[in-house]
Amino acid sequence: MIIVSACLAGYRCRYDGKIVPDEEIVALIKSGGAIPVCPEMMGGLPCPRVPAERTKDGLRVVTREGKDVTEAFTSGAYEALRMAKLYGCEKAILKAKSPSCGCGQIYDGTFSGTLISGDGVTAELFKENGIAVQVKD
Ligand code: SF4
Repeated sequence: MIIVSACLAGYRCRYDGKIVPDEEIVALIKSGGAIPVCPEMMGGLPCPRVPAERTKDGLRVVTREGKDVTEAFTSGAYEALRMAKLYGCEKAILKAKSPSCGCGQIYDGTFSGTLISGDGVTAELFKENGIAVQVKD
C-alpha cells in the first residue's frame, strides 16, 4: 500500500483551496493501491489557510503572517505516520515543495519563492521511519 498526499488525489485540502488532481494518483487510489492523507488538515488546520514555510533552521513552521504553526504541522505528521503504519505503507508519493509533504526541496522560509535543500515535516518523519518518499509536482 502506498500513502499519498490527499491534494494529489483531488481533495480540497491545499492552502489555496484549489482542487488539483493528479490522474495517476487518482487511478492508484481507485485501484485500491493507495490511501490519501493531508497532514496539515489532520493537524487541525483549515482550508484555505495562510501559507506557511519551515524556518531555515528547520525547527519551526511559520505562516506568512508570522504565526507559529509548528504544533499543527508536527501533530499532523504523526497522524499521517500512524495511518501509514496502520496500512503497512512502505512507500509514499507526496506533493513536491510543501512544508509538510515536500522531499529534497522546500521553500526557504522567506516567502520569496526561493527553494533550498530540505524536507517537509511529514516527509522527514516518514523517512526517519523507513518509508521511501517520492514526490510529484
Ligand atoms: Fe495536505 Fe500535503 Fe497536500 Fe499540503 S501538500 S495540502 S499538507 S497533502
